[in-house]
Amino acid sequence: MNPLIIGASIGIGIGWIIDQLKDKKMKYEIDFLPVGNGDTSGDAIAIRYVEDGSNDYKIMVIDGGTQESGQALVEHIKKYYETDYVDYVVNTHPDQDHASGLSVVMEQLEVGELWIHRPWLYVDEIIHHFQDQRMTKESLERRLKEKFSASYALEELAEEKDVKIFEPYQGKQIGEFGVMSPEKDWYLHTLIPDFNKTPEKKDESVSMLDSAINFVKNVFESFDVETLREDGETSADNESSVILYTEFNDKGIMFTGDAGIQALNEAVDYYNDNSVILSDDIYEKLAFIQVPHHGSRRNISPNILDKLLGEKGQSENKTAFVSAGKDSTKHPRKVAINAFIRRGCKVYATQGNTICHIHNTPDRGWSAITPLEFSDAVEEYD
Ligand SMILES: [Zn+2]
Repeated sequence: MNPLIIGASIGIGIGWIIDQLKDKKMKYEIDFLPVGNGDTSGDAIAIRYVEDGSNDYKIMVIDGGTQESGQALVEHIKKYYETDYVDYVVNTHPDQDHASGLSVVMEQLEVGELWIHRPWLYVDEIIHHFQDQRMTKESLERRLKEKFSASYALEELAEEKDVKIFEPYQGKQIGEFGVMSPEKDWYLHTLIPDFNKTPEKKDESVSMLDSAINFVKNVFESFDVETLREDGETSADNESSVILYTEFNDKGIMFTGDAGIQALNEAVDYYNDNSVILSDDIYEKLAFIQVPHHGSRRNISPNILDKLLGEKGQSENKTAFVSAGKDSTKHPRKVAINAFIRRGCKVYATQGNTICHIHNTPDRGWSAITPLEFSDAVEEYD
């Protein structure tokens, strides 16, 4: 192979972004707003960052939760970021609890770029996956727009307001962040055909019995005893979640949406494929991570967490944020939180509050919160 071609191909994407950031001093704030009550969970995340000494702040919103949390995002950005301009709006995947609040952001704030997946643009390319369902291109397009109604509404809003639309596939750059997953072909030819098929896993459907009679059996865990399973599975919609990554001040920051084990592996592989530039393993860099899918136990495994965070005792001083409903009985799972703590994370949960991670930006006078505790007893799998 021609080394120049290899050089060119790694010159774009995550390696390039991180190379550009290497010598910059960044100030940033990451805010997770609360979404929903009871067993509804969702994500509503705002980020503001700037290079030290500059006033050129960039603002990114990742998912907007419900209409209510979308409104809260608007107020938050006006109050704490003192602007009504958002540079980048990113929708990780089309689920209502992530996409619908973004329409409020689009309506009430000025937006520079909208980043959403638009699978209906590819019906010619993917129609053959739907042959057995006797679908025409027209009916497939219609079905995708229905299935993605919340994100399709964002596309329509953006077109109305002349906001530029981009698609967040692996290798794309959104501001100072790189898209690690989903890879475009995997998304179009594996995940999209699976969108309708994938059954909702138990973890995602509310188990009335569990919460109503509090019949959850517990099993023992310790720092050395982990019961988290290797074989967790989540829906194709969740696996399609955009995974974003950057390194500010030489420290990795990752947002995961509702991504599952496959997508997280995809992200790690992508990082490693750029290892000519990125000389360390990702776990040595990663300092801040979003716990995927509100702390579900089916989106992570010991193996993928070892890759992302290092094995037990290998790293410390990492921060993890989890967005979970205030009174949720299923999110976050204790077995999932333990797995993050075991690998050197302090884990903080929204559970009705806005939580923020601030680096070198003005003190807001907010009070410190306590991280979640390690649990000696965790939910047994059924
Ligand atoms: Zn979700």
